[in-house]
Amino acid sequence: MTPPLPTLFLSHGAPTLPLEDIPVSRFLKGLGRGLARPRAILMVSAHWETPAPTLGGDTSPKTIHDFHGFPEALYKLEYPAPGDPALAARAAELLEAAGFEARIHPRRGLDHGAWNPLMLAYPEADIPVVQLSIQTALGPAHHFALGTALAPLRGEGVLVVGSGNTTHNLGDPRRAMAHVAPPDDVRAFDEWLIAAVAEARTDDLLDYRARAPAATHQHPSEDHILPLFVAMGAASNAEAARGRLLHRSYCLAVLAMSAFAFEG
Ligand code: ZN
Repeated sequence: MTPPLPTLFLSHGAPTLPLEDIPVSRFLKGLGRGLARPRAILMVSAHWETPAPTLGGDTSPKTIHDFHGFPEALYKLEYPAPGDPALAARAAELLEAAGFEARIHPRRGLDHGAWNPLMLAYPEADIPVVQLSIQTALGPAHHFALGTALAPLRGEGVLVVGSGNTTHNLGDPRRAMAHVAPPDDVRAFDEWLIAAVAEARTDDLLDYRARAPAATHQHPSEDHILPLFVAMGAASNAEAARGRLLHRSYCLAVLAMSAFAFEG
């Protein structure tokens, strides 16, 4: 039996990530080489939201360019990784066994939350990828439970990856452009999160909206932090999941780009 793989949470930032030479893109470029090669990747992106947990079941998921007004070169990028319908079915079976009503979308492609970081971490695009949707209205505990249900996949050679951002308030671009360094409230939230993950304070993390500094300001919508809870849950073994900080930087000053590995 292969040892269980860790799970990851990655911050993906702006859609231009694959075209930029910035600290987070340099980190992601070396990421795949530093990990045991997975048989397949289960990707939970902030950019696919559905009422019930849904898995992409296409054999060749198309690259979705789900953004507007970016450089033309970005629309030409393709990430032709194969899908893995058998993994989609296996994940749906695990979710159903845990009491979720899981679905499979037969033609869903990969959105930029999925393919942007994968293009840097696994540029050969030769590892099958299955995407899992989020349910923003259902909050952290629901996503932690999704992860817990999917934990057996770690022992089956599947790398569970959450892709979002550790802070994500783009509501005021002037604020972002006025700062070269991250504003104090962005840094304070990011530092709280990093400490809570390192100390495996799962209860604090699940209640981050009440307990972390300026949490609702950093995440006006929870979509970009919820993939973190899936990664945590999948590594928790019904106990607290301790995370290791893999990377830390900021994009556009207001986006914290922290990345974690959870070993279980
Ligand atoms: Zn995003």
